[in-house]
Amino acid sequence: MTQFKLGWIGLGNMGNPMAKNLLKAGFELMVYNRTRSKENELIEAGAHAADSPQQMLEACDVVITMLSNDAAVKEVFEGTNGLLSNSVPGKLLIDMSTVSPETSRYLSGRCADHEMNFLEAPVSGSVKPAQDGQLIILAGGTVANYEKAIPIFNALGKLSVHTGGAGVGSSAKLAINYLLGLNLQGLAETILFAEKNGVSKTDMLTIINEGACGNGITKIKSPSILNNDYPAAFALKHLVKDLQLAKDAGLDTPLITPLFDSYQQAQQEGLGEEDVMAIIKSLANKTG
Ligand code: NAP
Repeated sequence: MTQFKLGWIGLGNMGNPMAKNLLKAGFELMVYNRTRSKENELIEAGAHAADSPQQMLEACDVVITMLSNDAAVKEVFEGTNGLLSNSVPGKLLIDMSTVSPETSRYLSGRCADHEMNFLEAPVSGSVKPAQDGQLIILAGGTVANYEKAIPIFNALGKLSVHTGGAGVGSSAKLAINYLLGLNLQGLAETILFAEKNGVSKTDMLTIINEGACGNGITKIKSPSILNNDYPAAFALKHLVKDLQLAKDAGLDTPLITPLFDSYQQAQQEGLGEEDVMAIIKSLANKTG
């Protein structure tokens, strides 16, 4: 049995499998989700329910959040019965959501005001790596807090990197998601261009995936493209959020504006809740 009592807030597409891996690793785990029914699966697997984030913090040594966006994280920290409702000195709060570097630095300061410790730890990898405990964890905060969290990260990922102080891990996460957006936009445009000129999706995906242009993400997304079915592993709306955060953090490259516009338009067309690879559906109506 592992030493810490852990709390987990946010049982969405990522939080659910990540929390399950902590149980499997032997951690004592308390869970909380805004939509309480999502806790049932974890409780059946051995977790306990918390009444509120505030109550969880009192009961646990370390509390981890995995939530949609900056607003959700701030609400769970600062809202009614939130994590910052009381000062409970010495506790460690780890935010694994993808948020702005600014929000991470802000929360780090707020926790310090309460004599509590904060670590940001956004992740690279989607639902399958989350299920397999194969995420890459991009930590930002003090070395002491990072070292305390290593047993937790070992249960969730294949690699954790201490990138620097609070905010640097978020910057690394925004950078890798820019590359993800470029990859999937490029894959979609390539498939559509090839199809228009008589090359089947099956053949084109084989050519990509067997050659130097194929990579982990082109392989993961190939079945969705072949089946023309895009259930959310990483919802398209989250990439729109991340590209906006990257722009806000100073990303100013030739491709960021058209890339952001493309995904944002797909979201406006109603594809936000589908997987990010559904960008191909939006582009299918536009490419000549
Ligand atoms: P998700 O499935 O949409 O889950 C979001 C979670 O946030 C749910 O538990 C939701 O609660 C909770 N939430 C949202 N607003 C809230 C609020 N105001 N107060 C309290 N709880 C709130 O998202 P996800 O795919 O798990 O992603 C979580 C984070 O990881 C995001 O920042 C995302 O960008 C990042 N990420 C995702 C992936 C991926 O492949 N999915 C990969 C890497 C990083 P309810 O159940 O009540 O709605």
